[in-house]
Amino acid sequence: MKRHIVKELTERCLDCDQAIWVSGYQNTHRYVGYDAKLCRYCDIWLDSTCPDPICQYCSRRPKRPSLIPYADLVVD
Ligand SMILES: [Zn+2]
Ligand SMILES: [Zn+2]
Repeated sequence: MKRHIVKELTERCLDCDQAIWVSGYQNTHRYVGYDAKLCRYCDIWLDSTCPDPICQYCSRRPKRPSLIPYADLVVD
């Protein structure tokens, strides 16, 4: 079962003032990341997707963070 790599940042969301998280950079058979910041509380991505239609991060990114079908693995 893949895990979604996430890391908590010191930045705060401008809308809700909750901590911002970043989805990791790894895409392996064990781990998945989308290379983008997100707010879990607002359930939005804070980075837009890049224009590359086959980008290994953006092209597979769900519309909202809550739709990620993998359990989070929190890293430091
Ligand atoms: Zn927020
Ligand atoms: Zn991309």
